[in-house]
Amino acid sequence: MANPLQTTWLTEPELVLASNNQGKIREFNHLFADLKLPVQIIAQGELNIPDAIEDGLSFIENAIIKARHAARLSGKPAIADDSGLSVPILGGAPGIYSARYAGEHGDDQANNQKLLKTLEAYRHGQPIQGMFVCVLAYVSHAEDPLPRVFQGIWQGEILDQPRGEHGFGYDPLFWLPELQKSSAELEKSEKNKYSHRGQAMQLFYQSLNQ
Ligand code: IMP
Repeated sequence: MANPLQTTWLTEPELVLASNNQGKIREFNHLFADLKLPVQIIAQGELNIPDAIEDGLSFIENAIIKARHAARLSGKPAIADDSGLSVPILGGAPGIYSARYAGEHGDDQANNQKLLKTLEAYRHGQPIQGMFVCVLAYVSHAEDPLPRVFQGIWQGEILDQPRGEHGFGYDPLFWLPELQKSSAELEKSEKNKYSHRGQAMQLFYQSLNQ
């Protein structure tokens, strides 16, 4: 990504990243470094901000809830990512519950095991379609009436066993037929080029001077 010439709305010197998920924070640091924005990104954990209560019914609602929560507790503009894996044959599950699909928040291994087990009944030798979804929401302050929202969707298939060592979450189960790799077999920069998060960041970038 090139250096933006100017930004009409990202004007404060600091921006809080409303996430305590280390996998996401790593990817964002990489993505923001590429953008060379004139702002410092601070993960909310550095300000001792706990996770928000995500009680929305959609990725968009939860992203806005998380951004407002971080902005309220920090007094700074905030950007949140609400993301997850959506499997149409399961009615969109795990969806907004991706991080806690198996019960405990952030137990990637248990979540992956549960997904594999649940999908056994649906396979019939056919590929199972799935998509990673990422919604980024930016608020300039906690009561901002006009959050800026950017959505990325990454289509793939759900493997019947894990592959690859990189990434986090459901990456080892997410198969990309065009690349003949799972997303856990992609290097960070390659994943960012195609991923739901990379796509949402591109939209964020394109909006900077609008
Ligand atoms: P959130 O922190 O509530 O948005 O939950 C996101 C959850 O979705 C993560 O804990 C992962 O389980 C899953 N997820 C989101 N993005 C990715 C990704 O890029 N790779 C793998 N899993 C992801």
